Amino acid sequence: MSKVLVVTGGSRGIGAETALLAAARGYVVCINYYKNKAAADAVVDQIKSAGGKAIAVAADVSRESDVKDLFKTVDEKLGQISALVNNAGILEKQIRVEDIDEVRLHRVFAANVFGSFLCAREAVRRMSTKHGGYGGAIVNVSSAASRLGSAGEYVDYAASKGAIDTLTIGLSREVAEEGIRVNAVRPAFIYTDMHADGGEPGRVDRIKESLPMKRGGQPIEVANAILWLLSEEASYTTGTFIDLAGGK
Ligand code: NAP
Repeated sequence: MSKVLVVTGGSRGIGAETALLAAARGYVVCINYYKNKAAADAVVDQIKSAGGKAIAVAADVSRESDVKDLFKTVDEKLGQISALVNNAGILEKQIRVEDIDEVRLHRVFAANVFGSFLCAREAVRRMSTKHGGYGGAIVNVSSAASRLGSAGEYVDYAASKGAIDTLTIGLSREVAEEGIRVNAVRPAFIYTDMHADGGEPGRVDRIKESLPMKRGGQPIEVANAILWLLSEEASYTTGTFIDLAGGK
């Protein structure tokens, strides 16, 4: 029986690369997206043309009703879920803390933190042996920002990723004897569209010379780590992190 994986924010960037690699490794994949249906459908088409099985499902992960519907759709169309990648995330324009307002804080924490909690909840309800499930694995996509702080850029985003690190540790211990492993990756300086949302599309190239490796990272390098954490090769690994930040 194929393993069923939900990738949130699977339409672009790290999520899309993770979905494609997972499908190539035999997972049946649900590609969740927010607004960009065309991009999500393109990932599904690529998986199907390579002989895999995938669906695209729209859901705003920060909305509880959307998340419930997302997982119900997976139950009905793909069957028992065995893996979740909590990848959907946002950042906003680079500003200092003294200029941050409440509305922005709600947006960032709702998408990055509430979204990951809500999706983890739905996954645990289905995968935990305590609820009659068969176990599984969750990988949260945090960021090196959680330990670097993103001063002068987006401390709110960095703090939201700090919450993801804590979710990873706490949830991993909560469900460890219920067959579920919970780990996180902490990427940084990866070539995706996200930096344009911060107002600086060329951010990775600006920063790369300051990194020990002197280069930015590619989404596939993050996807490789995610797939390892999901796999049986990581069977004794839970509550921990893989940093993918060029040595920073
Ligand atoms: P990206 O290219 O901007 O893609 C973001 C993805 O998240 C898209 O698929 C988007 O869907 C989806 N999304 C956004 N808000 C959502 C919501 N409310 N509900 C559901 N889906 C939502 O970003 P990325 O760089 O690949 O980032 C992926 C993850 O890696 C994020 O958690 C980010 O914080 C983390 N990360 C990235 C970097 C980096 O350097 N790129 C570094 C550290 C951590 P649509 O296509 O529909 O808009």
